[in-house]
Amino acid sequence: MSAAAPLAGVIGDPVGHSLSPRLHGYWLRRLGLAGHYVPLPVAADDLAEVLAAMPRMGFRGANVTIPHKERALSLAREATARARTIGAANTLVFLPEGGFLADNTDAHGFLENLRSGAPAWSPSRPALVLGAGGAARAVIYALHEAGVARILLANRTYARAAELAASGPPGVQPLSWSAIADALPGTGLLVNTTALGMAGQAGLDLPWAALDPGTVVSDLVYTPLETGLLRAARARGCVAVDGLGMLLHQAAPGFARWFGAEPPVDEATRNAVLSP
Ligand code: NAP
Repeated sequence: MSAAAPLAGVIGDPVGHSLSPRLHGYWLRRLGLAGHYVPLPVAADDLAEVLAAMPRMGFRGANVTIPHKERALSLAREATARARTIGAANTLVFLPEGGFLADNTDAHGFLENLRSGAPAWSPSRPALVLGAGGAARAVIYALHEAGVARILLANRTYARAAELAASGPPGVQPLSWSAIADALPGTGLLVNTTALGMAGQAGLDLPWAALDPGTVVSDLVYTPLETGLLRAARARGCVAVDGLGMLLHQAAPGFARWFGAEPPVDEATRNAVLSP
């Protein structure tokens, strides 16, 4: 490994399942850039020490994933407004004066993917977001920034939806899980931010007949790519947007900062990430 080649990586626990090393490695090869992007399994207790040492080893920055997203933000010397508002970081850039800048590119990734997968989507109709975890927080931020005035937020644990609605932007209304059926007909955009539908998990069981064919349906789950939700949405005539594009788009700003070139997000990139 060349000492001069810039380094970046993804810090998580566990991190072995992450597609980010394959994605950044592909971009480096395709653009002919020197550099390496590696998976870094780091326990929560070691995070601060690891982040302090990384720049001395040639790292320009890192992605952080579960369970480090909130703690990384609290350790940052500087943070973007969007990271502070969302309350979590996923992209870190080491600063020449020491410490690091924390950013959150999940909302950007979600919106870019939505706009490319559903170009006719308009923020004028209400959105219905399923789930109230970290990903939901980024999606709500993105939808608010995009001009969606009314966001319904349904979660299995109602108290978490109520808490997120109270701390988020205006116009977010918490819903109980059982109220989803009544909310579906008027929804312009339905977003699944829960883990339901992921390989090894139960699927989303919704009253599909209540889904308006004019609704855009977006699933953050990308393993499998075609979830039960997206299959049911297509069968109803809805535009369906899978979760892989969000992963690619959220990764692009970090790559540009660390390796110095805007990476392409296109069909070839999707295929490279999906190929075993
Ligand atoms: P998280 O903070 O752990 O939140 C998980 C959410 O899923 C909670 O709202 C939880 O509800 C809900 N949930 C879990 N099991 C459920 C079940 N059996 N029935 C109903 N609801 C259930 O996780 P996260 O970070 O937000 O991530 C959520 C999903 O988004 C994951 O699948 C992740 O891979 C995906 N994601 C994708 C991207 C991308 O780039 N495509 C980016 C970020 C995240 P409770 O509050 O009731 O527990």
